[in-house]
Amino acid sequence: MDECIFCKIVKGELPCAKVYENDRVLAIRDINPAAPVHVVIMPKWHMRDLLQVAETPNGLIANILDAAAAIAKAEGVFESGFRLISNTGPDAGQSVPHFHMHLLGGKQLNAELG
Ligand code: 5GP
Ligand code: ZN
Repeated sequence: MDECIFCKIVKGELPCAKVYENDRVLAIRDINPAAPVHVVIMPKWHMRDLLQVAETPNGLIANILDAAAAIAKAEGVFESGFRLISNTGPDAGQSVPHFHMHLLGGKQLNAELG
C-alpha cells in the first residue's frame, strides 16, 4: 500500500532502527517505546491486521514467533520474560493498519492488560 508507513519502512523509503530481518519479516524499534525493549515485528507485505493474517494460511505467525524468540534472545529478555501483543481494530487502539506484533520487555510489565 503506497501510503502505509510500515510499507514505506519495509521499502526503505522511511528510516527505521532495524533489529531483525529475514525474507518475510522485518522488526524495528518502536519510535515511541513503552518499555526498555519495545520492538515492532511485521510482515514485509501489507495486510491490515491479525484477522487478515488468519485468512492467509502461509505460516506467517510461525515466522513472527520465530523472529520474536530470536529478538528476545538478542535483546536479553528471553529469560527475564517479555510480552507479545497485537492491537486489532479501534477498541484495541491499533494506530498503524499494517499487521504487527509488539515485543515488550526489559522491565516488570503492567499486569493489567485491558
Ligand atoms: P499500534 O498502535 O498500531 O498497535 O502500534 C503502532 C506502533 O508503531 C506504535 O507503538 C508507534 O509508536 C509505532 N510507530 C508509528 N510510526 C512509526 C514509525 O514511523 N517508526 C517506528 N519505528 N515506529 C512507529
Ligand atoms: Zn503496509
